[in-house]
Amino acid sequence: MIIQKSTNPRISTFDPTNFAFGSTFVDHMIICEYENGKWGDLQLVPYGPIGFTPAMMGVNYGQACFEGMKAYKDKDDQIFLFRPEKNFERINKSAKRLAIPEISEEIFMEGLKALVDIDRDWIPHGEGMSLYLRPLLFATEEALKARISEKYMFAIVATPAKNYYTAPVSVKIADHYSRAASGGVGAAKAAGNYAASFYPTQLAIEEGYEQIIWTDDCSHEYFEESGTMNVFVRINDTIYTPKTSDKILDGVTRDSFIKLAKKRGIEVVIGDVKVSDVVEAQKNGTLKEVWGVGTAVVTSVFQALGYQGEHLVLPTLSDDESYASLLKNDLVDIQTNLAEDTFGWRV
Ligand code: PMP
Repeated sequence: MIIQKSTNPRISTFDPTNFAFGSTFVDHMIICEYENGKWGDLQLVPYGPIGFTPAMMGVNYGQACFEGMKAYKDKDDQIFLFRPEKNFERINKSAKRLAIPEISEEIFMEGLKALVDIDRDWIPHGEGMSLYLRPLLFATEEALKARISEKYMFAIVATPAKNYYTAPVSVKIADHYSRAASGGVGAAKAAGNYAASFYPTQLAIEEGYEQIIWTDDCSHEYFEESGTMNVFVRINDTIYTPKTSDKILDGVTRDSFIKLAKKRGIEVVIGDVKVSDVVEAQKNGTLKEVWGVGTAVVTSVFQALGYQGEHLVLPTLSDDESYASLLKNDLVDIQTNLAEDTFGWRV
């Protein structure tokens, strides 16, 4: 690894009690370039702009994908990644679907560990605090030719993340737009998937909702994901989540919730989640909870579902009654070394 330390570090100006998530960046970043058919040396360099022209293929043809993960600090200043091998596998799955050359586990893991290590002082202390890590892959060849790029960059940037409580939100069940198509790129963490979701989400916000529950592109009869999260539904005491497919991102939090729920003896059904079944359960009082899960906020609990002009209100459960809350606590305790790591998830 080529290491070029920052000569002008900003860490002394960082206030861990007052910073903006997503727009405060740590002093360094990782980069690695691909050309002539191979990945070059991993480089740890000062965070900052890199020179490209608007003819860069990544921005013209959209060969770009990324990951989202976190590093957590415990009370003794030990730092943990959470199931990083899942993100490594997923970035290469995304890369393959977008015809981007895959990266080695060594590039991914060494890059993460080196960045977290050098910028460890940027990881805020305290419950729910963490360092959000964004590994990404994008095409860098300067050419206006609609074909596979011959040059790429792998990079990792990092931004401190807060313990933010998210109030329950109202979500709209999609009945027109879709996030992903059969045979498409929904299972990849492709940058373009997010671009395509912004306009329908903006329309839902104008209707008074905060997020969209994405349904299948053909019939809009089945739940797929929620916003940029996987989705869980609880009817009576059973939880349901759609099975992953080429339209659904295989979330690390989703998989962890399934395992934690089973450990608690909660019945989990992985399969089709029909909109009509959820609506019926709301009407007959058996729908207890609907929530989204993802690395950023762990859980986003829903207070109401909008469906074809109807506003379906969900019950308000206490923390003890809510499976979303119980499972979130189980997960956060493992991530932050407050509970025994029975699954071997901390690295
Ligand atoms: N679905 C989408 C579309 C996402 O962007 C994310 C966030 N990465 C998730 C689900 C949740 O995945 P994870 O639990 O791995 O963060």
